[in-house]
Amino acid sequence: MDASRFTRWVVAAGRFVLPPRCLVCADEGHEARELCRACYTALPRNLACCGRCAVPLPSPVPECDRCHAESRPWADLWVPYEYGWPLDALEARFKFAGSLAAGRVLSDAWIDAGPPPSLPELLLPVPLHLSRLRSRGYNQALELARPLARRYRIPLAHDVLYRARRTDAQSELDATARLGNVRGAFAVRRLPTQKHVAIVDDVMTTGATLIECTKALLAVGVERVDVWALARTPLPGGRQ
Ligand SMILES: [Zn+2]
Ligand SMILES: [Zn+2]
Repeated sequence: MDASRFTRWVVAAGRFVLPPRCLVCADEGHEARELCRACYTALPRNLACCGRCAVPLPSPVPECDRCHAESRPWADLWVPYEYGWPLDALEARFKFAGSLAAGRVLSDAWIDAGPPPSLPELLLPVPLHLSRLRSRGYNQALELARPLARRYRIPLAHDVLYRARRTDAQSELDATARLGNVRGAFAVRRLPTQKHVAIVDDVMTTGATLIECTKALLAVGVERVDVWALARTPLPGGRQ
């Protein structure tokens, strides 16, 4: 056995022998996951939020002031977590440090938060531009969508939506700039046969990306578009 095969064997054997460690605090993992019980319990559920845009609020409302002023194009949305500690730490490892293990912990947590309000016939992860896909190595929305598709037995298509042009990283822009940045950035490569689809993303911030993807699908004749995102960022300054 050569050295690299031996190393892989030791790592694989270690998974059976050693208990998993928490990716956030290195404590002992809970239920064979790479997350301890305390960090799992601390994952912030998004229970009090706007029913149209999922923004965290002091108490749940069917529609917040912003959604009243500006309608949302999707039918239903499911955003079970608030973007906060320790979910943000796992997301940072997943998205910017190449940790697929953190992605598995996040998708397990997403499945635990189910079921969704309604079941679509097809899941469509928000696409990455090819240049960003090449540098990151994977699309985080697709990695999160795969276990959801298996859990709910829904087909998944990653060749329906695509990025028609490269956009600036949304995380570096304010709300107005985010909308302009992604306007017209998404297109539909082929019309899915399914009439009811859900777009899947990791973190919903202003919703600009999801608005653009929904509009692109409705424009080509998809009848119903839902939005699924793992977590929603709170408004600047916290709950209002
Ligand atoms: Zn922990
Ligand atoms: Zn709202």
